[in-house]
Amino acid sequence: MLYPKRIWKGTGLGQKVTLTFDDGPIPGVTDWVLEELAKRALTATFFMVGDNVRKHPSLAQEVLAAGHQLGNHTYHHLSGWKVSTKTYLEDVAACDFILEDTLGVQTDFFRPPYGWISPRQAQALSKQKTIAMWSLLSYDFDSSLATEASLQKCKAQTKPGTILVFHDQEKTKDRLRKILPCYLDFLVSEGFETQGL
Ligand SMILES: [Zn+2]
Repeated sequence: MLYPKRIWKGTGLGQKVTLTFDDGPIPGVTDWVLEELAKRALTATFFMVGDNVRKHPSLAQEVLAAGHQLGNHTYHHLSGWKVSTKTYLEDVAACDFILEDTLGVQTDFFRPPYGWISPRQAQALSKQKTIAMWSLLSYDFDSSLATEASLQKCKAQTKPGTILVFHDQEKTKDRLRKILPCYLDFLVSEGFETQGL
């Protein structure tokens, strides 16, 4: 298998989806996401950037304390195609280290920033991690798309087993504020529950 242990969707059993948030923790965004999830008793997986955990350890702690799953998203949000495999693996290890040091968490899950990872890097990482991709993008990062269009896309394409990507970061926060509450309400009204990876 070219990409062992790489997953693109969750189990299709039951009305369950996996919500993921990449790039945090960021104050003013991640804490707001936590509130929106808590209001509806939903859970998510947060792929954290190590350097943001270093800057905002108490916010990272809040995510964990709220019962969400954590994943590794490298320490410096590296693009796998732009750096050597050695540099990439070291950056992933640095993120692992800070998650363990700050939160006492060891995560089996890794998501490559931008979804870009070389086959060699994927091969090396898959010995220790499950590489968690996605089945649906929220387009919260795409400012050329109206938020209403992003929302409709998400709703129309959500099905059991969907792994959906959002971003809890500065660049997406305004769009996220428009998309996320409506989308979470949609999940609840359609009888969807959330599941971890
Ligand atoms: Zn990212």
